[in-house]
Amino acid sequence: MTQPAPATHCPECGGTFTAEATCTDRYHACMALELTNPDYGAVHHFTVPAYMLQHPSQLSADGWQAMAQVLHEFLIDGVSPARMRQLIRQQQKTQPRSFSMVKGRVAERPSLTWRKTIMDVRLDDPATYCADVRAWAEAVHYDIQHLDLTGFA
Ligand SMILES: [Zn+2]
Repeated sequence: MTQPAPATHCPECGGTFTAEATCTDRYHACMALELTNPDYGAVHHFTVPAYMLQHPSQLSADGWQAMAQVLHEFLIDGVSPARMRQLIRQQQKTQPRSFSMVKGRVAERPSLTWRKTIMDVRLDDPATYCADVRAWAEAVHYDIQHLDLTGFA
């Protein structure tokens, strides 16, 4: 039996797979670290939106836009995760979200070459990890800001 050659690049974000890991593997490794070690967990609010934005097959088109907004508020406005939860609760009371993050028209894959992907994040120690995740999230944000969203929004 001949096996098909394993993919070397992620079909969604374009990240280069290693012999050991795909993006999905890397994401699961990140989540495992973040959820068990608070030093890694400090950047959880960057990891999730950055990964989701680069893997839009998991999101609706509206969900993708909402995720981009969330990343912007965390990175640029400096909103804390606790404050974000509060804001979302308030918003749900006054103006319930009229769309689903995952259902409805599917998000299209932005046609761009991402400057960084989750494959650039080193898991070695919390300080390196947090710096890499932040740099990756900033790169994702930058790429989105410079994306031509015509026909996409
Ligand atoms: Zn990927």
